[in-house]
Amino acid sequence: MLFGGSKRTDATAGGKEGIIGAMTIAWDDAYKRNFIMWKVPRNIRLNDNIVVREDEIAVFYRDGKVLAYLDKPDRYALTSQNAPILGGLIRALSGVKQQAEVYYIQKKVFDGKFGSKQPYQFKDKEFGIVNLRVFGEFRYKVHDPVNFINQFVGTLNYQTSEEVEERIKEQMVLLVYDAIGHLKEKGMGVTELAPNLTNIEQIVLEKSKDHFGMYGIEINKVSGLYINLPEEVQKAVDTRASMQVLGANYLQYQTGQAMREAAQNPSGAAGAGVGIGAGIGAGYAMIGSMAQAAQAAQPQQPQQPSKACVKCGAIIPADAKFCPSCGARQEKIECPNCKASLPADAKFCSNCGAALGSKKCQNCNADIPANSKFCPNCGKSV
Ligand SMILES: [Zn+2]
Ligand SMILES: [Zn+2]
Ligand SMILES: [Zn+2]
Repeated sequence: MLFGGSKRTDATAGGKEGIIGAMTIAWDDAYKRNFIMWKVPRNIRLNDNIVVREDEIAVFYRDGKVLAYLDKPDRYALTSQNAPILGGLIRALSGVKQQAEVYYIQKKVFDGKFGSKQPYQFKDKEFGIVNLRVFGEFRYKVHDPVNFINQFVGTLNYQTSEEVEERIKEQMVLLVYDAIGHLKEKGMGVTELAPNLTNIEQIVLEKSKDHFGMYGIEINKVSGLYINLPEEVQKAVDTRASMQVLGANYLQYQTGQAMREAAQNPSGAAGAGVGIGAGIGAGYAMIGSMAQAAQAAQPQQPQQPSKACVKCGAIIPADAKFCPSCGARQEKIECPNCKASLPADAKFCSNCGAALGSKKCQNCNADIPANSKFCPNCGKSV
């Protein structure tokens, strides 16, 4: 008897070969679990017995091509007496020392998680090179066992289920990168990735039909997509999102905050001006006119000392600690790698991409960027 699973790829997985050379081969449930495939460690010969269960398919492979596959549950004796039923397979195995490899494949749908090992370098108009990492979940199954073995397992010479699954996950990451690249070509900036996650999932699912179809794999679902942005980019995304909620630009946003603070102080002049019970609409009308006044006043005050924002280049007051346009802290640090001058709160160099701070993963002890939410090595959240 030869019972085994993906963890047991050596010939010791089963019992001793019988004197007449026949062996019963089956994929035991105890070793099956969530493995998509098991390559039987010993070649198959005439007179072997093959057990095929409800949820699996046995594929016979020799000299770079699939000979046959068995997908109906039964115990098959590979003898010449079976020639009318197993036809081509028996003929292929007949003769001196003829043998074939056998792969078992599970029919069920698998849930998988993918995550990038290497970052995607997104060249953004505003932020320069931004290193992205993507994580997500998907469901997949083998829908064409012949193509799966011929085009995927056989061509790439995969021996274990882990190799196969690893490859499928890598391909998923590449499809996500591909979809991001596609949107970027259409003019999408890095800050628009977050609102486009569902869109990207749909693009990946659609593209996966062509991409995986030729390998006999079907992707049923892509979900839970997460794109890890460097902290400075994430801040800009958050700021913009809150501005969109307010329906105001950043100057109006700040003016509004000043007014709210003033309104909480009943003795203040602004509080009196707004008046008790002033509606939000009235408040915004006033914020609007204040913003206009501020804009109109700018040209008349050229004597005010100014400087350029360390990040976005906007002209801002010389004593400003934060940029009113992009919110960046007005201090600089030097990239230890390329010596580029960078905003003080940068976690990555926008010039060379070097990480400017790092921490250790609690799970695998890998060095990971300080702003990562997931370990790029093992995928654990940190
Ligand atoms: Zn700025
Ligand atoms: Zn650098
Ligand atoms: Zn880790």
